[in-house]
Amino acid sequence: MNEPDDNFQAAAKRYTLPLYAATRAQERVKSVNARAEKRGLTGRLRLEVSEPYTVRQTDEYGFSYTETVVDVTLSGVAPQFGDWTLIAAVDTVETETGQEMIIRSLPGASPVDRDALAPGRCDHCQTDRFRRYTYAVEHADGTVLQVGKTCLKDFLGHNVSLITPTMMEDVENALARPVDYPSVTRVIAIALAAVASRGVFVGSRAAYGYPTVDLVWQYFNNDSLTQQELAPYASSASQQASDVIATVLTTDDASEYMRNLRTALRAGHVEPKHMGLVVSAVAAYKRLTTPAKPKPEPTQYTTYGTPDDKISVTGTITTACPVESHYGYRTTYRMLLVIDVAMADGTHALIKTTTSASWAFDVNAQDTVTVAGKVKEHTVYNDRPQTVITYPKRLDQAA
Ligand SMILES: [Zn+2]
Repeated sequence: MNEPDDNFQAAAKRYTLPLYAATRAQERVKSVNARAEKRGLTGRLRLEVSEPYTVRQTDEYGFSYTETVVDVTLSGVAPQFGDWTLIAAVDTVETETGQEMIIRSLPGASPVDRDALAPGRCDHCQTDRFRRYTYAVEHADGTVLQVGKTCLKDFLGHNVSLITPTMMEDVENALARPVDYPSVTRVIAIALAAVASRGVFVGSRAAYGYPTVDLVWQYFNNDSLTQQELAPYASSASQQASDVIATVLTTDDASEYMRNLRTALRAGHVEPKHMGLVVSAVAAYKRLTTPAKPKPEPTQYTTYGTPDDKISVTGTITTACPVESHYGYRTTYRMLLVIDVAMADGTHALIKTTTSASWAFDVNAQDTVTVAGKVKEHTVYNDRPQTVITYPKRLDQAA
């Protein structure tokens, strides 16, 4: 019997896979070989994986995106038992013209002569009945036989040890139909389109509006209304996506959220449970690229004039409230007014006065007034300087 490595045939099958799918396939090959070895089975698989490279794709709605892929080559040592080698699975398929065969060569096996086979035939029991699954086995002398799935054990003898065809088929299926995880650049592009279409990023279901991540899911779930809604933004969103990713990746914010986000973006593809996290990169990007609004300077208060100055000011009344005064049995009412005056240098002066002048009873807070008076003193009220004036006269009073 040959050493397994001598029998590895180059290039049984080649596939191009997303990087993450190749990692999974590699794991499967490992586990098949480990199980085979443990059980003393013949047959081995080998998967060679190229360096990853990037391809640019465009989907049917115009979103273009990059994907990291690898070329893989599945080769192997076909299962052997005595002089016989299992070389192919021969499936029966019903078509318009009757029954036909799909032949799936096993990795490492010699090429199969289709003309030597027939749909559903079993050369072992030779019973004429419908068989969906049969196998081609080749003898060392070149003879090829076709054997039904259930007869394979009888034919080979029950003590024969081989990697079961099913184990090999599992690996091939994994390679042919990798789990479909979208690339990060595609998810970001679609999220950007969703934000462009709705005008806002909506982070959670609790918030007002439709969550951005739900729109992204609808796009991937082939919701045609969503796909049509987002298509007009495909081109600009696709262009912006790489900038979003690059901007987030260059941050060094050590918060748990940002560390998770950077890891998710570096992964290259998006697993379903990370979809919300990846989509949120669009909001993180906006925060990172929108300059913080300068906080309005707190208002500075100042005094006005010096005591005994005669002044006239125009400002807004901030306080207008009557105050009671008692002289013996007599009660009189005066008005307490505070006028906020904007100064030329940007500061504000608060002018306070108390008066029984009739005009003072006719004004309200928020009114603009021009008042003349005499500075009595500078005081402080609630930590703000105030300028108290006496004998206030309203200068802008009508009539
Ligand atoms: Zn049979």
